[in-house]
Amino acid sequence: MNGEVIICGLGPAGRAVAHRALAEGLAVTVIDPHPERVWTPTYAAWADELPGWLDPAAVAVTVPAPTAWALEEHRLDRAYQILDTAALQRALSVDGARVIADRAVEVDARRGVVTTVSGQVARGRVVDARGLGRSPRRAEQTAYGILVRRDALDSEPPTLFMDWRGDNGAEPGAPPSFLYTVPRGPEFLLFEETCLAGRPALGLDELRRRLDHRLRGRGIPVTGTEPVERVRFPVEGGRPGRGRFGAAGGLIHPATGYSVAASLRAADTVAAGATPWTAGARAVAGLRRAGLRALLALPPHETAVFFETFFGLPTPLQRAYLSGDADLTGTLAAMRALFAALPPRLRRTVATAVVGGSRS
Ligand SMILES: Cc1cc2nc3c(=O)[nH]c(=O)nc-3n(C[C@H](O)[C@H](O)[C@H](O)COP(=O)(O)OP(=O)(O)OC[C@H]3O[C@@H](n4cnc5c(N)ncnc54)[C@H](O)[C@@H]3O)c2cc1C
Repeated sequence: MNGEVIICGLGPAGRAVAHRALAEGLAVTVIDPHPERVWTPTYAAWADELPGWLDPAAVAVTVPAPTAWALEEHRLDRAYQILDTAALQRALSVDGARVIADRAVEVDARRGVVTTVSGQVARGRVVDARGLGRSPRRAEQTAYGILVRRDALDSEPPTLFMDWRGDNGAEPGAPPSFLYTVPRGPEFLLFEETCLAGRPALGLDELRRRLDHRLRGRGIPVTGTEPVERVRFPVEGGRPGRGRFGAAGGLIHPATGYSVAASLRAADTVAAGATPWTAGARAVAGLRRAGLRALLALPPHETAVFFETFFGLPTPLQRAYLSGDADLTGTLAAMRALFAALPPRLRRTVATAVVGGSRS
C-alpha cells in the first residue's frame, strides 16, 4: 500500500490531485465524509491560469476583457473565465480511486498514515487537502449574490471583476465592499456584493442590503425571489508543508480569495510527489501575506484609491501579483510599482502594515 497516494478532502484541490494521480496510473485513495457532495459556488479564474489538461467543457464563459471600477473605469486586458461548476467537478473525475466516505481524524503526512473517525487506517503518501476551518483570527471573504435573469435586463452590464464605486448605501467610514458581476451561463448574471477581506468580514445581511441598494439605484430589476449565492471562507491561515495542499496548504491568494486555479495548476506537481513550494513560491506567499496586512490596514475610504492605483499598473505587473505563484521578481516589481504610485499618505499606512508582521 505504500505506493498509494492518500488524499484527504475532495474539494477542488484534493479532487484535482486525485484526478491527475489517477491519470498518471497511480493507486489513489480518497477520504472525505461527503465524497459525492455536489459543488455549487460560482468559480472563476483568469484564462491564462488554468492548466492545459483541464477539459475545456469546464469553462462556461470567457470574457476577453473584464472591467474594474475603482475611482475610474479600467478595461483589464486579460481574459477571465467563469467555470461551469458541475462540469468542473465532472472533469476532475476520481473514477478508479478507492473512496472512503469518512472523516480523517489523524493525518500524519510524515509517517504516511491516515486514520478515520470509524477507525479505518490508510497508509501511503499523504496529501492533506481538507480546506481551512473558520477562526476569528483568520481574515475572511464574505459575499452575498443573486442570480438575475439576463432576459429581464434592458441592457446587459459589463463583466465586473471589481466595482468599488460607492453607490451601495454603505455608511460613511464603514468597511467597504465591491460589486462583482459575471455571466452565470446563458440565462443568468450573478451580481455579488463582496467584502474582499475582513477580520471580521462584513456580515451577509449588510452585504444583502448594500447589493439591493446598489442594484435598485442602477435600475437592475430585483424581485427578492432570485436564487442566492452566499460566500464565506477564510483567506488566510493555510501553510505550506507536511503534505498540505489547496486552501489548507496556503494556496489561497489573500488579495482575491482565489485558490482553485492555483490548485489545478499545481496538481501535477503534487501528484508526482514533488512540492510547488519552491523557495521563490514561499517568498511570494510571504509577500502576499504582507499585501493582505496592507489591505486590512487601509482606512475604508482609501480602498478605492488603493485599487485605482493597482488597476493602473501595466497588465504584466497585475498578472505577476495576482497569479505569479513562484514569480518573486514579478511580485516584487508589482509591489514596488504599486507602492511608488500610491499617494504618500497611503504609502505610510501600507509600509507600516507590511513591516508589522503577521497576526495569523
Ligand atoms: C460561493 C463561493 C465562491 C467562490 N468563488 C471562487 C472563485 O471564483 N475562484 C476561486 O479560486 N475560489 C473561489 N472560492 C473559494 C474556493 O471555494 C476555496 O478557496 C476552495 O474551495 C478551496 O479548495 P480546497 O479543495 O483547498 O478546500 P475545500 O473546498 O474547503 O475542500 C475541503 C474538502 O475537505 C473535506 N474535509 C474537511 N474535513 C475533512 C476531514 N476531516 N477528513 C476528510 N475530508 C475532510 C471537505 O468535505 C471538503 O470536501 C469561492 C468560495 C465560495 C464559497
